[in-house]
Amino acid sequence: MTIKFKEPAPIVDELNPLESMMERFDEAATRLGLDESTYNALKSPEKAVIVSIPVTMDDGKVQVFQGYRVVHSSKLGPSKGGIRYSMGVNLDEVKALAAWMTWKCAVVGIPYGGGKGGITCDPRTMSEGELERLTRGFTLAMRDVFGPEKDIPAPDMGTNPQTMAWIMDEYSKLTGVSSPAVVTGKPLVLGGSLGRVEATGRGVMVSARSAMAKLKMNPANCTCAVQGFGNVGSISAKLLEMQGVSIVAISDVSGAYFNKQGIDIEEAIKYTAKNKSLEGYKGGKKISNEKLLELDVDILVPAALEDQITEENAGRIKAKLIVEGANGPTASNADKILEENNIMVVPDILANAGGVSVSYFEWVQNRLGYFWTEERVNRRADRIMKLAFDNVYKASKKYKCSMRTAAYIVAIDKVADTSKLRGIF
Ligand code: GLU
Repeated sequence: MTIKFKEPAPIVDELNPLESMMERFDEAATRLGLDESTYNALKSPEKAVIVSIPVTMDDGKVQVFQGYRVVHSSKLGPSKGGIRYSMGVNLDEVKALAAWMTWKCAVVGIPYGGGKGGITCDPRTMSEGELERLTRGFTLAMRDVFGPEKDIPAPDMGTNPQTMAWIMDEYSKLTGVSSPAVVTGKPLVLGGSLGRVEATGRGVMVSARSAMAKLKMNPANCTCAVQGFGNVGSISAKLLEMQGVSIVAISDVSGAYFNKQGIDIEEAIKYTAKNKSLEGYKGGKKISNEKLLELDVDILVPAALEDQITEENAGRIKAKLIVEGANGPTASNADKILEENNIMVVPDILANAGGVSVSYFEWVQNRLGYFWTEERVNRRADRIMKLAFDNVYKASKKYKCSMRTAAYIVAIDKVADTSKLRGIF
């Protein structure tokens, strides 16, 4: 047998989410006057673990997958953050996403540090059995990293409550202790929380409402385009529609769909549940995903991938308000252009923090062994989101900067203060 070693393809994409994250971190650290030792301590992750996971595929062959878990910070508490299954997963991406979790948890004031994990794989081409073996293999490899008091995963792109159930089961078997609090975003019967599935989209809606109030925009007179129709995009669209906003465009991998009269979101959600994607959806005229970003709408919700708004297209964006449902949808090279054009951006680390906030509630309920009503979960999550928005808004006035820089300032200040109090360097 001849074995051919293939050189990995060079990364040609010059937009790197880690660089985007670092540029924002640097700007906020400078404005905040952060001292050099704290700056150095906060800029690099505490831990980065890379594992190879051999999985027997359905055809009997063994395929080896690369898995990552990065703990950026555990200063505020155990590290928290999702696990992503996607072909785009690489160490730099996971590092950026882990740091974003640190800032996100700090912005909304929950007692967690930040972490993130990922496996380079295409979950859409894998069977249920292959995904289960992959997830159990990953949990086994990460058994010393994960823990209810150490590092708590959750769903992200390409993973879902079933993935979390496998992690919970495998970890519980390995430790001999039933440990629901080792992971959040679980199915309800396994100790999941009511409201968790909708939580990120709900937080996007609450942030959008707070921003609309500041900009004196009446939801009933606003139009909105939502990029991405997964969990975050579809629920953000549905809840914004319920606020009276007209959702004129939605999109997914199959393309974007535009309807001047407003898309019927409930119907679109039913369509995707049945057809797996929006492919063939007739409720709107088909346009490209790029065009969707440039539509003449009041609000834009990018809820798909990283680096969608760049210096190349930022100048053509007409929305007055951008609410970032995805992590890192705006490359740092676009920030200035959006600012100059007076577009308010509610940044990812604030706008999509509803998910991790309800993850925190799930973890609290698991440790209490007592479960809350959906009404209680939503009320408390809405309060966290509103308070966080107001804090960031105030900081943006104080430091005369964008909402993004203000959110980083609030977060970095908190983590830096805690690090100093703990005296760990
Ligand atoms: N993956 C989600 C995020 O990026 C949720 C993380 C969590 O709940 O821990 O915010």
